[in-house]
Amino acid sequence: MGLLTNKIERDEIKPGDHIYTYRAVFTYSHHGIYLGGSKVVHFTPEKKPSSSSGKSYDSMSCPIFPDCGFRQPNSGVVLSCLDCFLRNGSLYCFEYGATPSVFLSKVRGGTCTTATSDPPESVIHRAMYLLQNGFGNYDVFQNNCEDFAMYCKTGLLIMDKQGVGRSGQAASVIGAPLAAMLSSPLTLLMPGPVGVATATAGMYCMSRYSTDIGVRTDVIKVAVEDLAVNLGWASHQEEEVNHNEAPLIQL
Ligand SMILES: [Zn+2]
Repeated sequence: MGLLTNKIERDEIKPGDHIYTYRAVFTYSHHGIYLGGSKVVHFTPEKKPSSSSGKSYDSMSCPIFPDCGFRQPNSGVVLSCLDCFLRNGSLYCFEYGATPSVFLSKVRGGTCTTATSDPPESVIHRAMYLLQNGFGNYDVFQNNCEDFAMYCKTGLLIMDKQGVGRSGQAASVIGAPLAAMLSSPLTLLMPGPVGVATATAGMYCMSRYSTDIGVRTDVIKVAVEDLAVNLGWASHQEEEVNHNEAPLIQL
C-alpha cells in the first residue's frame, strides 16, 4: 500500500476489509465491506423496491451470482458481487489504525482513519446484521456509505447535536468546520505571508484530523443489535439516546 493511494488488487483483499472505489470520475467514493467470495455489503441511496415480494434487486442482469443486488424492502443496505460494486472502477482498501502522521499525509479525506478495526468476524457480523435490518436513511452528510463501512469495521458511531456521521467524505463536502478553524492552534502560524499557505493546509489537516473517528471523544461503541435504538430509528424515548456519553477511544 503506497502512501498516497490505497489501491490494491482483488486477490489482496480479505473478508472483513473496508473497500471502496471512486464513482463518477473521482467526484465521490463508494464504500463497502468485503465479505469474501466476491461479495460486498454496501450502503446506497434507498430506492423503492421494484416488487412487493419482500426482496428487490438492483442488478437484475448480474451474471456473476444470483443474489447480487439483494436488499430488504426500504433498506439502503445492499449485497452485491464485487464486479457490480466496482462497476469497472479501481479497488481501494480503507486503512485502519493509521498513525496520525500517515493520516495527515493523505491528500484526500476519507482514505484512512486512526481508529482500529475490530476482528473480521465482528465486521462481517455487523454487515450481515445491517443487511437484514437496514441502516437508517441514506444521507451524504450524516449517514453515508463511508459511515456504514466505518461502523461495520469499528462499531463506533459519532453522536453529536448534528446527528450521526461526519465521515471524511461528508467533511470534505461541507469544508472545515469554522469552529475547528478558529480554535486551531495553527492560527499561530499565520504571522507572515509565508505562513498563510502552510496554515491553510494545516488547518485543513487539523480539521480533518479532529473529525476523524479515531480521535474524536464523542464517539461511542454501539452493538449492532442496539443500533436502531441508539440512532432513534426505533421509536424510543429520548433518555435511551442520552445514555451513551462515555467516550471509548483513548489515544
Ligand atoms: Zn453482480
